[in-house]
Amino acid sequence: SREVRLKSRPVGMPQAGDFEVGSVELASPGEGQVLVRNRWMSVDPYMRGRMYDRPSYVPPFQVGKPLEGGAVGEVVASGSPDFKPGDLVMSMLGWREGFVAPANTLEKLPADAGVPVEAFLGILGMPGLTAYAGLLEIGQPKEGDTVFVSGGAGAVGSIVAQIAKIKGCTVVATAGSDEKCAWLKSVGVDHAINYKKGNLLEAVRAAAPKGIDVYFDNVGGEHLEVALELAKPFARFAECGMIAQYNNEEPAPGPRNLIYVVGKSLKIQGFIVTQFAGLRPQFIKDMSGWIAGGKLKWEQTVETGVDNAAGAFLKLFSGGNTGKMLVKL
Ligand code: NDP
Repeated sequence: SREVRLKSRPVGMPQAGDFEVGSVELASPGEGQVLVRNRWMSVDPYMRGRMYDRPSYVPPFQVGKPLEGGAVGEVVASGSPDFKPGDLVMSMLGWREGFVAPANTLEKLPADAGVPVEAFLGILGMPGLTAYAGLLEIGQPKEGDTVFVSGGAGAVGSIVAQIAKIKGCTVVATAGSDEKCAWLKSVGVDHAINYKKGNLLEAVRAAAPKGIDVYFDNVGGEHLEVALELAKPFARFAECGMIAQYNNEEPAPGPRNLIYVVGKSLKIQGFIVTQFAGLRPQFIKDMSGWIAGGKLKWEQTVETGVDNAAGAFLKLFSGGNTGKMLVKL
């Protein structure tokens, strides 16, 4: 079975040479273990943080060892009464074609969910819950509010934008190409702005002349300054990610206009999706209803095979994905 390993810790922007593909022999599963053949794996920006050797909310990846991430696979052989060959399972053992793991580290997926199974890595999985929980719990959008979301055409951002529409908000989203903006318009986003063109502050100001009530931040950097500038008093900021800063070799200076937090009484809160695991039943129920009702659409960008997995990861930083970035194994 082949796997993708961290060859060296990236300095600045990760390079293809920071990764390598190696092989391991998989033993047959012992008692309580399951042998799984991975079918889909998730490719996520947060993995960049695990490539630094520093304490964080998840331990760092180890050089020479395989990367990890969400994956959907199929049970091939089982030493556990809870799984049988053919069962679809979710694990955190992506970035490899197969693995043997204790049964209790796997989650069985429904065979008849009415969505393609890879949706459990996207809209019905971690990015979906990130969008749902971050927007609704931290952003607290009310009908008529203006919601600004950066990284709007990504896995999380595109779901944030659509849930905000479902909640009756005006949505302003940014993305890095005209094609992505056209897609966002097609799913109901009121104002889609290509942040690579023109003046971002003036474009967002024109789209939200009365200011913004909620900012869902996927990007940090200039976007965060723009949101601070245009925030209404008592606006809520859901700090989900700051991808524009993940490859900085030195910490970037903070937003130059952070002082608005005081005068505008802003509420700025970061979060990690795992803190909202308790919302999952409600999340699945709401999302399934919205999907069935045609109110939520999603895109995915698919690369194929472990040999292309590192390249898929690199593309996250150049905007090579629309919606969820996946590798089909
Ligand atoms: P995306 O699908 O949004 O992929 C990343 C996107 O970021 C790219 O497609 C690119 O789109 C955009 N991007 C890359 N570099 C920059 C830059 N310098 N400036 C602006 N945009 C950039 O990824 P996810 O939806 O999986 O994740 C989105 C954010 O949410 C990330 O910051 C991630 O770390 C965070 N996250 C946080 C979680 C949490 O628990 N807090 C959980 C999951 C994700 P474009 O073409 O528009 O530039």
